[in-house]
Amino acid sequence: MDYPSRFDVIVIGGGHAGTEAALAAARMGVKTLLLSHNIETLGQMSCNPAIGGIGKSHLVKEIDALGGAMATATDYAGIQFRVLNSRKGPAVRATRAQADRILYKAAIRKILENQPNLWLFQQAVDDLIIEQDVVRGAVTQMGLRFFADNVVLTSGTFLGGTIHIGMENYSGGRAGDPPANTLAKRLRELPFRVARLKTGTPPRIDSRSVDFSKLIEQPGDTPLPVMSYLGKVEQHPRQISCWITHTNTKTHDIISSNLDRSPMYAGVIEGVGPRYCPSIEDKITRFADKDSHQVFLEPEGLETNELYPNGISTSLPFDVQLDLVRSMQGLENAYIMRPGYAIEYDYFDPRDLHYSLETKCVKGLFFAGQINGTTGYEEAGVQGLLAGSNAALRAQGKDSWHPTRDEAYLGVLIDDLLTMGTQEPYRMFTSRAEYRLILREDNADMRLTEKGRAIGLVDDVRWAAFETKREAIEREEQRLRSTWVRPNTAEGDALSSHFNIPLAHEYNLLNLLTRPEIDYAGLKAVTGTGVADQQVAEQIEIRTKYAGYITRQQGDIAKLKASESISIPADLDYTKISGLSKEVQLKLTDIKPTNLGQASRIPGVTPAAISLLLVQLKRRQ
Ligand code: FAD
Repeated sequence: MDYPSRFDVIVIGGGHAGTEAALAAARMGVKTLLLSHNIETLGQMSCNPAIGGIGKSHLVKEIDALGGAMATATDYAGIQFRVLNSRKGPAVRATRAQADRILYKAAIRKILENQPNLWLFQQAVDDLIIEQDVVRGAVTQMGLRFFADNVVLTSGTFLGGTIHIGMENYSGGRAGDPPANTLAKRLRELPFRVARLKTGTPPRIDSRSVDFSKLIEQPGDTPLPVMSYLGKVEQHPRQISCWITHTNTKTHDIISSNLDRSPMYAGVIEGVGPRYCPSIEDKITRFADKDSHQVFLEPEGLETNELYPNGISTSLPFDVQLDLVRSMQGLENAYIMRPGYAIEYDYFDPRDLHYSLETKCVKGLFFAGQINGTTGYEEAGVQGLLAGSNAALRAQGKDSWHPTRDEAYLGVLIDDLLTMGTQEPYRMFTSRAEYRLILREDNADMRLTEKGRAIGLVDDVRWAAFETKREAIEREEQRLRSTWVRPNTAEGDALSSHFNIPLAHEYNLLNLLTRPEIDYAGLKAVTGTGVADQQVAEQIEIRTKYAGYITRQQGDIAKLKASESISIPADLDYTKISGLSKEVQLKLTDIKPTNLGQASRIPGVTPAAISLLLVQLKRRQ
């Protein structure tokens, strides 16, 4: 049959991990095939139609800095944009966009279909071709065989997926989609550690049945933010509001009196659910002292009446879902268009992966996304990008790459997963990063675009824009550093009166900008000189104002680098190191840290154990 069947990289699954993986590999110039159940569901948002938020927007911007699609698709699909934590420091500021589900999928599909080196094919994959622990390709449901020495598996919640609504359950990958049971069975035959996790989604409500006069309106921000560094406000579609209501004691009574009909509480579900995105049953049980929880009614799109009630994910039976929804203000006559449900699925212990996301026991096979125990589109997308780029590097015979904890939230995510594993769906937070002031959402491009360019992820357009921005920042910083203002001059007096500060002696403008009372926009207004580009101005302002803290964090990073530069040989026998407790020996043997820094982050590995390890490593030198 004259049909393309040999590729450099095959990506299985067209969700958030799979699309970024396939795009990354193809951008790097290798022949890539994306195999997914259904071309119509490429880039589908399984749960709430929103991208970004605290910790997550940092990942989206990192994907963007490396040339990925998520931020651009969000700019074309976002119908309400907000900057969260805007009054707090820049480290925790986060952009969040409510997305039109259909527009988002369309944007992703357009990017995929226009990507050179990328082939799309609609088929379920039922089997992997593996020869002596090396992957060689994939076999589809209808028996087609596709060959590649690098395969990225991104099957999301589909492996052995079981959907629960009350005491009823059935097989499914997510509502409306088939599970991947044959592939799940095959993977369970391989020597991976596999377990079950659970996640859930709320019922969807017809907006025509909602009394908006009783709800609090939440419009988006002005000025409108963009998600991508290359994004333009003009790309955004029409903007609309979200709405807020609350659960109340009646809602909570309905839920607690029906907990025996909840599959989670009746013990039917064995998988652990997301701690930070709990079901409403979970919330009222865990926070029993609270008699109200906020519920955001988020539009699913511009051309649909469907509303996503964020905050009441549930697997209670349908009649209870209806009662609990109708107990809330504004929703007294709500019509449910789709029931909420929970889904249980197989995930693989991420400690069985290398930092490239290649599996330790099957060479050339990479895992990315929800199957590694994470939750969220952003966490999936960023892993997809890493796995796809490493699959491409492997195809090119080059070394793998990954950012470290001080370079990216992606580095934090991968290091957390590989070092600690996860027993519950892992979600990113800014609090997981120790170098928050350096890993900001506003500077992901400064941290990563150059690296992305070096390995072929970043195209000429993005690179040119990045270089222009970087040069503009350097030039403007230099100008501010060399421009002096003196007291009792026209300019000095103007600055003093504008900012209401005395000028004791002469200062350069960069020095003045370190003061809390002085902002770049004001400085520009008074002096009549400055840059127009908001991104450039923002970088200068943050870098200057936080310079002291940033320098301190750079000192901490230097110490981290020192311990990370001490490699641990893969064949080190920890049982032979006297003085190490059995528990520490077991942990180190299990995880096989690649360097001393990683070893020190394994929970339970004490500073004393690290000292013993260091002595041992020095002896081997
Ligand atoms: P997915 O987006 O699930 O994509 C998997 C893709 O693989 C699909 O395209 C599928 O068709 C394809 N596929 C699977 N198996 C095969 C096969 N054998 N052959 C071919 N193609 C295959 N995240 C949150 O952050 N918060 C939440 O509250 C939340 N709730 C959720 C509720 C539900 C019910 C579900 C299903 C998910 C929820 N998520 C939530 C998780 C979020 O949807 C995922 O984290 C994210 O979609 C994972 O991306 P992924 O690419 O790993 O997998």
